[in-house]
Amino acid sequence: MTTIFKKIINKEIPATIVYEDDDVIAFKDINPAAPTHLLIIPKAEIPTFNDIEEEHQMLLGRLLLVAKNIAAEQNLSKNGYRLVINCNEDGGQTVYHLHMHIIGGRKLSWPPG
Ligand code: 5GP
Repeated sequence: MTTIFKKIINKEIPATIVYEDDDVIAFKDINPAAPTHLLIIPKAEIPTFNDIEEEHQMLLGRLLLVAKNIAAEQNLSKNGYRLVINCNEDGGQTVYHLHMHIIGGRKLSWPPG
């Protein structure tokens, strides 16, 4: 099933893209939960975290490395930030294309609600 994120990958709808390579794209969340709120997604259509397989290991490592680099570019590294992957309904997932949130720019509370 085509998601809104696939349309962003295909440039069918606009997004503020902060990073892109052959496998990964990162863009600003349309409804930011903090001063900096970005989404990093694989271009491959993996619906949820439950769907990751052995063959995705390199891709998942790439997502994390890109997240670290983006956090540095966004000046989040020193004060800190949070990486989040929501999975399915109880996890709060609303878009069924695997994505990692980078949230920062303010002090975040814990635990999540
Ligand atoms: P989830 O709740 O699935 O973990 O996160 C989905 C995120 O996608 C939400 O934070 C939501 O604001 C964001 N989002 C939903 N639709 C769009 C869109 O069309 N463009 C962008 N940039 N973000 C979106």
